[in-house]
Amino acid sequence: MTTAWLVAGEGPGVGALVDLARSLAEEVAAVVVGDDADARAVARVVDRVDWVPCAAGVPAECFAGAVAEHLAGAELVLAGTGPASRVLAGAVAARTGAPVLTAVREVVRTEGAWQITRLVVGGIATERNRVPGPVVLVTEGGRRVGGEEADSTAAEPAVQRLDLVRLPMSCPQAPVVDGEPHDLASAARVVGVGRGVRDPGELEVVAELARALGAEVACSRPVAEDLGWFPKDRYLGVSGRRISPRLYLALGISGQLQHMIGVRDAAMIVAVNTDRRAPVMSEADVAVVADVHTLLPALLDELGRVRGVPLAEVAR
Ligand SMILES: Cc1cc2nc3c(=O)[nH]c(=O)nc-3n(C[C@H](O)[C@H](O)[C@H](O)COP(=O)(O)OP(=O)(O)OC[C@H]3O[C@@H](n4cnc5c(N)ncnc54)[C@H](O)[C@@H]3O)c2cc1C
Repeated sequence: MTTAWLVAGEGPGVGALVDLARSLAEEVAAVVVGDDADARAVARVVDRVDWVPCAAGVPAECFAGAVAEHLAGAELVLAGTGPASRVLAGAVAARTGAPVLTAVREVVRTEGAWQITRLVVGGIATERNRVPGPVVLVTEGGRRVGGEEADSTAAEPAVQRLDLVRLPMSCPQAPVVDGEPHDLASAARVVGVGRGVRDPGELEVVAELARALGAEVACSRPVAEDLGWFPKDRYLGVSGRRISPRLYLALGISGQLQHMIGVRDAAMIVAVNTDRRAPVMSEADVAVVADVHTLLPALLDELGRVRGVPLAEVAR
């Protein structure tokens, strides 16, 4: 029997990893470095959890060596793209002598080997690898688990507490959160801001629209990296976050491949762009040729007129 091990260092945002693991192995187990609530949330969607309690002020990375030792015999290990999970995955790979592959898109279990397709060259190409032995895979963790998808009738999930030795390091200062907290991985609706939204003053209107739709706000890479309008953990794409909402509303985004890789799992893409030939327009389910600066206020006005229907319903 093959067991797929998840390593989670950033809470229960592991929905996509669980789906992938279930398609590859008969048993799915997890090592969760975090608090008790994280461990129980993950345990609701996997077969068992080894929980490494990690107090506030202790970076999950402190347990990298011990987690690697714990998983020394693992055949298949999956981790999300968060910094702590990546460090844990790297340590496990070093301990097991397994290759670690990032930007993984697809994995197939074939006779005697894993066949892994992953993105390369900044996301514009894919590469197929064949790994006959143990392997560590890093890919977007996905939605938070343990909430409504969990089977409420199931018995209390199996969580085994592990008291592992940690590296002598602590972080006595509370982390400084850059910007508003957000949950892009689980968001049902996301509004994306591109360079076409030329005026930062317009962001308040975007935020109002997002509030009305019950959406999170994200952006393209240059909007975060060059313009600095949003923290860097808010941009979508091959080098940023990947999302799978029901609705992605792209405002003034050209839709280069590097961006679209982050949003192609959205159930519906609506794009607003002045250029009908922008790449995003041919990938969108609904392409609106319009100036965001005139469309947004008109859209808010119009939505406000839809009486008796919650705006979130309109977006459904
Ligand atoms: C190795 C590498 C990795 C990268 N990774 C990422 C990544 O992860 N994520 C990412 O986003 N990018 C990434 N990029 C950058 C990517 O190639 C694009 O340059 C970037 O996505 C463009 O951002 P944008 O669409 O906001 O801006 P632009 O390309 O400048 O597009 C702005 C769009 O707004 C439209 N517009 C202008 N005015 C208006 C208006 N008033 N109303 C409506 N529309 C208007 C324009 O027609 C245009 O289509 C990467 C690039 C490289 C080389």
